[in-house]
Amino acid sequence: MIAPDLPTAIAHLREMIDQATVVVPFTGAGISTECGIPDFRSPGGIWTRMRPIDFGDFLASREMRDESWRRRFAMEEQFGGAQPGRGHRALASLYRAGKIPGVITQNIDNLHQASGISPDHVVELHGNTTYATCLECARRYELPWVRERFTASGGRSPDCPECEGFIKTATVSFGQSMPEAAMRRAQALTESCDLFLAIGSSLVVWPAAGFPLAAKRNGARLVIINRDSTEFDDIADLVVHDDIGGALSPFIAH
Ligand SMILES: [Zn+2]
Repeated sequence: MIAPDLPTAIAHLREMIDQATVVVPFTGAGISTECGIPDFRSPGGIWTRMRPIDFGDFLASREMRDESWRRRFAMEEQFGGAQPGRGHRALASLYRAGKIPGVITQNIDNLHQASGISPDHVVELHGNTTYATCLECARRYELPWVRERFTASGGRSPDCPECEGFIKTATVSFGQSMPEAAMRRAQALTESCDLFLAIGSSLVVWPAAGFPLAAKRNGARLVIINRDSTEFDDIADLVVHDDIGGALSPFIAH
């Protein structure tokens, strides 16, 4: 059913969460917009104005690597200062209460971890933009370290001091294959739940679309909370077309 208004939505959601044993949230850009993180894929979003750098181009061209770091540091104000929103805090409360074993997210902003969910319990399908890794030896580098070298060299992306591999934000770029371990963990989480919450995702970008279906097929109830309708609204047990922070804030434990 599509909730006719917010109080009805919250009442139904509370009942479903109370009845569930294992709740698994799947989150997309919509949960982070109130935190000032832009939805890159939305109309007017950055990727409709500026073509994203393909992984193949990143590997092939020094200019593209420099450009990709230039763009990343230009967005640091948004990512660096962002704090968890009401949606993140509500999910962290349910996590602390033992209802949520882990969160699957399409977001790269680290805000689930910042809200108090252990990094081990956040499955990131598109990686994380708040740190970097060497593409060869997988060594982790923090952004201030990268920035220092980027600035000192007049805007050149640094290579790994250990192995001379390319250093890239720990995100999954266009043209880069999906992380297999994360996909397996997301699948296992999805199959472990009896309530699946799809929050702030349009559920069109692969592999996002597969998870609500898998949960449903496995007998879980499905809730979709998203500003716009999705093509899975028909099969959902509850659909909330409302502000995510407003729908989830009653679940924040104080
Ligand atoms: Zn390396």
